[in-house]
Amino acid sequence: MSVPPARAPEEPDQPFDDQRPQVRVLLASPHGFCAGVHRAIDAVRDALALHGAPVYVRRPIVHNMEVVRGLEAEGAVFVHELDEVPPGSVVLFSAHGVAPAVAEEARARGLIAFDAVCPLVAKVHREVIRHRREGRQIVLIGHRGHPEIEGTLGHVGDGSAVVVDSVAAVEALPLDPHAPTAFAVQTTFSVEDAAAIVEALRARCSDLAAPPTSDICYATSNRQAAVREVAARSDAVIVAGERFSSNASRLAEVAAALAPSVQLVAAAQDIDWPQLAGARVIGITAAASTPEQTVEAILQSLGARYRVDAEEVVGALETTVFKRLAVA
Ligand code: SF4
Repeated sequence: MSVPPARAPEEPDQPFDDQRPQVRVLLASPHGFCAGVHRAIDAVRDALALHGAPVYVRRPIVHNMEVVRGLEAEGAVFVHELDEVPPGSVVLFSAHGVAPAVAEEARARGLIAFDAVCPLVAKVHREVIRHRREGRQIVLIGHRGHPEIEGTLGHVGDGSAVVVDSVAAVEALPLDPHAPTAFAVQTTFSVEDAAAIVEALRARCSDLAAPPTSDICYATSNRQAAVREVAARSDAVIVAGERFSSNASRLAEVAAALAPSVQLVAAAQDIDWPQLAGARVIGITAAASTPEQTVEAILQSLGARYRVDAEEVVGALETTVFKRLAVA
């Protein structure tokens, strides 16, 4: 973490009157890139190195436009659907995972496809496939329309699972309370909201199968726990991330429950400075898809306006690394 030093006095012999207000900055740790995001970005770079540009990527490889623009500059071409990819081209699927139908379409179109799905999303796919085989009704706890949920739904087949994102949605479900049921959770869902929804499901289902280990991934849990600690001590929190990132939005929601003011910004230039007026302690975190240079730029901007006394608030130590995706 680096912030600029206090401005030097123009004349060394003059008393230095730094008018900038003093703030304490609490930087949540861990923040930023997770193992799945590293692996997906590496996969695009490896494919470019091995196959040459252009390499096509279906949808944003991770939910961050700075990452996308950086990879575009290196030769990646981002598309929405596979019909935009010329036959015979190399295409990668994003870290959020895809339905099997997407992989089949790539084969049918003669594309050389590599799936950069995060291994922790793939784990959820395997779980729902098993539940489906066992004939359970499946409840997916997540946000309908998010690519991860769309991909997971594709693994169980249309109409075989329902998606809920609140306790109220569980209460409104037309569930058979005695039928074997299972639930799975979007990897980037809110830990607290998921717990409440699971409790509501348990109250409604007499035979409810749960994931063997939490579907909410280590990176999501750790970043939410870290921002919770920081937000409880802050007058304002800045979450670095995109609005369309589930991970970033959940961090902002967790912080908003504890800090008086929270802003979710994709870049330092998006900071709403009047919203920080009067704040003496400012917390900072970043989503799992946000590059470290965004956090550095935010710290630099704060340092230009404030005399910053920075502290890293250290939570869980992360050691997870995923094996590189073979793109040969
Ligand atoms: S946030 Fe979690 S599930 Fe998503 S890419 Fe990172 S480690 Fe994988």
